[in-house]
Order: sequence, then C-alpha cells, then structure tokens
Amino acid sequence: MRLSIVAPCFNEESVIESFDAHVRSALDALPVDYEICYVDDGSSDNTLALLRTLAEKHPGRIRYTSLSRNFGKEAAILAGLGEATGDAVVLMDADLQHPPGLIARMLDLHSLGHDQVVARRDRSGETRLRKALSKSYYRLVNHWVDVELADGVGDFRLLSRRAVDALLSLPEQNRFSKGLFSWIGFDTVTFDYANVAREAGQTKWRFGALVNYGVDGLISFNNRPLRLALHLGLLLTALATLYAVWIVASALVLGVDTPGYATLLATVVGMGGAQMVMLGLIGEYIGRIYYETKRRPHFLVKEHSSVKEHSSVEEHSLVKEHIRAAEGSRATERDRELGGAGLR
Ligand code: UDP
Ligand code: MG
Repeated sequence: MRLSIVAPCFNEESVIESFDAHVRSALDALPVDYEICYVDDGSSDNTLALLRTLAEKHPGRIRYTSLSRNFGKEAAILAGLGEATGDAVVLMDADLQHPPGLIARMLDLHSLGHDQVVARRDRSGETRLRKALSKSYYRLVNHWVDVELADGVGDFRLLSRRAVDALLSLPEQNRFSKGLFSWIGFDTVTFDYANVAREAGQTKWRFGALVNYGVDGLISFNNRPLRLALHLGLLLTALATLYAVWIVASALVLGVDTPGYATLLATVVGMGGAQMVMLGLIGEYIGRIYYETKRRPHFLVKEHSSVKEHSSVEEHSLVKEHIRAAEGSRATERDRELGGAGLR
C-alpha cells in the first residue's frame, strides 16, 4: 500500500522543516510506502527554497509543486491531489495543527473499508465568542444547505483513491471543499482529537476571509437563498396589495386625505432595501456563473520537483478537455492544409 501526504504551504518557512521531520518519523514507523507532496501556494518567503532542499535530500519520498502565485488553499489542495500517486491520500496543514501521530489511526480505519477517514477537532483554546459564532453558523448552514457540514471537520482527512478521483472529477471553479467532501459521499468515518495550536508562523485567516468563507458555504451548494428571496417578494407584494386596497377603499368612503408622509417614506425605503438585498443575492449567483463560464484552470504551476514528466494540471478533467479541444482544432487545420486528405 502506498500513502500520499498532501500538504499546502503558504509562507510556512518557520514550520516546514519541523513538519517534515515529524511526518516522516511518524510514517517511517508505519508499514506503508509513502510520499509527501508539498504544494507551495505562491509563498513570498523562503518556503520554496526549503522545499527544494527537502526534495533533493529525499528524492522519491518528497515532491513539491510550486504554484505561480497564491491561488488559495483550496486550489493548492487540488494541485496536491492531482500530484498524489498513492492508493490513499492524507490531507494535512503544514503548521502541525494536524498531528502526524493520527495517521496510524486513519490507516487502521481505512483498512476497515472506509473511503474517507475524518479527524474532527474540538474547539479547545478558542475564544468563547468564536465558539458561539461557529456553532450558530453551522446550525444555520445545515438548515439551509443540501449537503451536511459538520463543525470542527476540516481538511485533515484520509481519502481513498476513488474518493480522490471523485474530487478531481468535479470541475467547479468555486471550490468549497468542506461541501465537496460531503457531496462526494462514500463510506465516511469520523474520530475526534484535541485542537492543537499552530507551532509557528501565523494563521492566514482574517475575520473578513472567514465571513466570505461562510457566505461561500451558504451559496455554493444550493439555490435556496434565491427561493427565499422569491418567497419574501411574494409576501411583500401581497401585503402591499392589501394595503393598497385598504387605502383606496378608505379614500372612497372617507374621502382623500393627504397625511401619510411618514408611512409612505418608510414603505419606499423599506421596499428599496429589500429589492437591493435581492438584487445583490441574484448578482452573487450571476457572479459565480460568470466565473464558472470562464473555465480557467484552478491554478498554474511554476515549478516542479520533476518526478512525473508533466504537471497534473494537464491530467485532469477540464484541462484534459482543453487539450483535447486544442488538438481537435489542430487536426482540422491540418486537414484543411492537406486539402481534405484527412477525409480519406
Ligand atoms: N494555506 C495555503 N494557501 C493559502 C492559505 C493557507 O496553502 O492561501 C495553507 C497553510 O500554509 C496551511 C494551511 O493552508 O498549511 C492552513 O492554513 P492556516 O494554518 O493559516 O489556517 P488555520 O489553521 O488557521 O485555519
Ligand atoms: Mg493552521
């Protein structure tokens, strides 16, 4: 059995070596053949140089892919998954927040036939506000979203080869991986571990990024918010109609009376606000459609520890399609040049 570790790294110069040492000593103790696939997500510090040295020191064991700029963790994970050759893949953060000691447990559970083995962290060491916010967020999301999202469940997990292939076959640009993991299904088992603080370096999450991530979670997996907007619109229209009937009736019965500036203004402003919100919501979906239709690759590779000849970008789904399309058009051009000789 061959195991691949995939670790995205963005400015992790302060921990990467210690991560590597920890992971390798954990893996050396296990009865598996392994490789570690690092993905440098456009780091601006010394991370790439360190990865090069590691790969030179342990050829065959350690590989790296360096992306042309910072594409974000989701893209880096995708790059790593494409690179991995193992029968199973373990996704890990490079900051040692995912204890390498748990890999043995994951392998045990995997050998029982589970395709996804998920390590769920508790929230020890987090502020109470953060805990409460996360908890209510997950309650809200699970009410709205079609796939099940669990609190504390992140990217630290083992995926079987077929689960990895399933993930790689999903072409979407906006990759909310928590949702994707849940969407692909397969036999999944979860176990808990105590949250660990980052060993060194800094988290890349700002509060704003977390909020955006939350919105992604809500919107990426369903169109229920659009349905909600529709329902709200219908409700407001009904109320407005009733109010109009009442106004007209009272004008007929009691005669026209002009006061009502305050209610009028409140209604106009309120309706305006509601419309803006709904337009914004629709815009959010259209924006996503816009990005999806561009069909750009999820990441670009700058550099490889060349064990495999060509980049995994070329091997997967969309990119494969692009290449086929390009080859197709080349073929027809050639045919034209040959004066239709291709027909024969
Ligand atoms: N990471 C990445 N690209 C990014 C941001 C983060 O590859 O744009 C990596 C980072 O190097 C780390 C992992 O993703 O290995 C988790 O990041 P971080 O520790 O900042 O997130 P947190 O653990 O605070 O959720
Ligand atoms: Mg971290």
